[in-house]
Amino acid sequence: GRPRVLLLCGGRSDEHEVSLASARSVLAAAGSAFAVTPLVIGRDGRLLPEAASRRVLCTPVPDTPPDALTATGALELSALEPGAFDVVFPLLHGPFGEDGSVQGLLKLLGLPFVGSDVLGSAVGMDKGMMKAVFAAHGLPQVPYRLMTRSAWRRDPEGVLASLMDFGLPVFVKPANLGSSVGISRADDPEGLREALETAARYDRRVLVERGLARARELEVGVLGNDAPRASVVGEIRYESLFYDYSTKYTEGEAEPLIPAPIPPELAARCQALALEAFRAVDAAGLARVDFFLAGGELYLNEINTMPGFTRTSMFPKLWEASGVPYDALITQLIALALEAR
Ligand code: ATP
Ligand code: MG
Ligand code: MG
Ligand code: MG
Repeated sequence: GRPRVLLLCGGRSDEHEVSLASARSVLAAAGSAFAVTPLVIGRDGRLLPEAASRRVLCTPVPDTPPDALTATGALELSALEPGAFDVVFPLLHGPFGEDGSVQGLLKLLGLPFVGSDVLGSAVGMDKGMMKAVFAAHGLPQVPYRLMTRSAWRRDPEGVLASLMDFGLPVFVKPANLGSSVGISRADDPEGLREALETAARYDRRVLVERGLARARELEVGVLGNDAPRASVVGEIRYESLFYDYSTKYTEGEAEPLIPAPIPPELAARCQALALEAFRAVDAAGLARVDFFLAGGELYLNEINTMPGFTRTSMFPKLWEASGVPYDALITQLIALALEAR
């Protein structure tokens, strides 16, 4: 019969809705080639029963919050029995999904899964660890500093003084998140204070980065395990101050240019750096690697080991433009998950 795929989505992070959107696209596309069982993880971490999960995913705009549907009241681990599925697609973004925690559980259960293993997921999700690994590999990045929430709360004036050498603007980010949740651009000292407060609400560790002025944003898709391939390079254009949550997910706010209008040598360098970044964190299956181009310099921004995966998300669009349409992309990811490494 068709391979049995467990599609995990939703999840406990602030990217819950983003994950559901990706899962709706995958469920609609993969339903004929694979026997797909969707399983929605509620914001509280509970698994919805299969029927409720299907309802959440098949309703185009769910006006009923998942939690209002009959939840089982306990994590249905029985759904994750070894052998119950041929492969799991953990289409989860952010903490408790993209950070190695779910990957660890699946590994323990002996279930093959799409995407990076525990290490690659954890290193890719944590911007502090990710940047340290990129630095060890000599990859070009903006200057940054990592600090703990407790240090900020203990001595805010000292922290602010220690950040003066960065100049302004700076970007302040929770170490573990995505979709720009908790990220602010600070243009003055008062803004910096607020930005640190905001980021510290989301995570125990906070990252401060030198802000690049008028940076162009380039993205590359990577597909494969030990012999990964890079997609064509894409660019994102938008009018807002930066590529924040509403710019990312409001229809018409961000325009993808695929391929990016950049010289071929620069595109080749992006692709090479994307593959280096992928290997540096020991990613597998898929990743989207993001860059900034500012003042003629190329900077590696980050890697996303489970990028947005709707039909119109950047990662699938990059592969579509590279000769791998959406349905084939899903088939390849499942094959990569099952490949002996
Ligand atoms: P994703 O949704 O891609 O996972 P994320 O939440 O991990 O995003 P980043 O990619 O680190 O967040 O940053 C989000 C956006 O903030 C960037 O796309 C860019 O617009 C802006 N930004 C972040 N850091 C900088 C910087 N150092 N200089 C200029 N702009 C920045
Ligand atoms: Mg990210
Ligand atoms: Mg992300
Ligand atoms: Mg990003």
